[in-house]
Amino acid sequence: MDTASHSRRNIDRPSPARGPRLVAPATASTRAPVLALPPRNRLLGALPQADVTALLPHLELVRLEQHHPCFGPAQPIDSVLFLETAVISLVTTFEDGSLVEVGTAGCEGMVGLPSFLGDPACTISGFTQIPGTAVRIDAGTFARLAAPPGALHEMMLRYTQAFLMQVSQTAACNASHLLEQRCARWLLMTHDRVEGDEFPLTHEFLAFMLGVRRAGVTLAMRALQDAGFVRYTRGHVTIVDRGGVERASCECYRVVSAYFARLFGQGTPCPA
Ligand SMILES: [Zn+2]
Repeated sequence: MDTASHSRRNIDRPSPARGPRLVAPATASTRAPVLALPPRNRLLGALPQADVTALLPHLELVRLEQHHPCFGPAQPIDSVLFLETAVISLVTTFEDGSLVEVGTAGCEGMVGLPSFLGDPACTISGFTQIPGTAVRIDAGTFARLAAPPGALHEMMLRYTQAFLMQVSQTAACNASHLLEQRCARWLLMTHDRVEGDEFPLTHEFLAFMLGVRRAGVTLAMRALQDAGFVRYTRGHVTIVDRGGVERASCECYRVVSAYFARLFGQGTPCPA
């Protein structure tokens, strides 16, 4: 068993968070309310039109660069991000500075949950795993608009429950399941959230995400590639046989996906 406890590493991790590094798409003003309709973010897409209309003046479309921090532990959260094509890794930092991923969020979710829960700061860090777009809203404004009663408040309660479930399953998975299974789970979760079958990934980064040694990830990815499930070239992975990756994964991918589907009616993959 390859557990996180004996192999945490302190590798090329993102620089200390200094708040969001948000870059506006060249075609859009950061000040203009921008939201594709129907919304590409599934949480926003699940809201009644009246709630979307209320949010619209406060939203801006931003582009998140790869591996850049969105927020850090014990720092004020000034932005809430509803993710579109970007994928965020949420990590816990140990006293020795090493990090391990405890959860992820993509088009099915958001980051900045403490703002909704009444804590102005966060206990974990978040940074961009897959670059892409997100819809940003000021944290204070969001907390006001998400106050009860209302559809946004109800939706955020469900997302809080779903996110806690995902984090719990990740903790159990890291402690109990084989590295190859965990690699497959991670690939499936990312595949669900990106456009197409290819996305950027290095063995070093995946080792960091899973809290294991790079050598172990290399062996696990080689096994998946030798089986014909994935293809790995120059920092990019391509899902060749989605069914094969699903069979190689532990139950955790299926359990978390089913839970989100039950709470939100979400299927996979995310809308393009
Ligand atoms: Zn698992």
